Amino acid sequence: MSHRNFQRVIKSRAPRPGARNNARVPPRWRNELERILISDEQIARRIRAMSRDIARDYASRELVVVSLLNGTVMFLADLIRNLSLPLRLDFIGVSSYGAGTESGELVFTKELRLSVRGRDVLLVDDILDTGKTLYRVLGKLRALKPRRIKTCVLLNKAARRIEAVEADYVGFEIPDLFVVGYGLDFAERYRNLPFVGVLHPHVYRQASQRIAPARRRKTCARGCD
Ligand code: 5GP
Ligand code: MG
Repeated sequence: MSHRNFQRVIKSRAPRPGARNNARVPPRWRNELERILISDEQIARRIRAMSRDIARDYASRELVVVSLLNGTVMFLADLIRNLSLPLRLDFIGVSSYGAGTESGELVFTKELRLSVRGRDVLLVDDILDTGKTLYRVLGKLRALKPRRIKTCVLLNKAARRIEAVEADYVGFEIPDLFVVGYGLDFAERYRNLPFVGVLHPHVYRQASQRIAPARRRKTCARGCD
């Protein structure tokens, strides 16, 4: 199967979760969250299937998993605990400093420590949005001469793409909504939610009003890594 066809098969399998989900926002979060987009059960089921696909594709190879901090914490933990493969793990820290929910300038906050030269790399991120982050990180990794790089994201917002980047493994295709939970944050909050939820727009509108324009570039107002 050609690489392009392979990507199409994987992508067409990624579910669109919204319609089939009856989960209710816990009372504690009702003022801040509009609804649950993807429940913890849906996430768990999908990650088991993704892990099976990855394990099959990398059978008999030793993988280096490179995960982007901080948004991948929960996804990564659940993904690799389901992966019955020998693997090594490393992290790249990358933050997008911008105001509100729009991404801004990318800053690397932690560099890779393991050598990936000649290795099979699986690059893991929380969400593929404009594609700017993966585009930059893929450029950086390719310069280190790995044997092959594949990408794996929990969420894909295809409608927002600016850079020509697609992921090889996609958990869920989602519409153009700002989501939080399961590692994803807004202003460093909500990462601990066990599900992916849609933030009430009033939350990020209020936050961006509180941050004076002069401070915005220094403040990761969207908590966007
Ligand atoms: P990019 O636009 O470069 O593809 O995505 C940049 C980063 O912005 C993602 O890795 C993620 O951390 C963050 N991001 C993009 N969309 C969302 C979203 O809906 N919610 C949250 N919390 N972060 C997002
Ligand atoms: Mg991220």
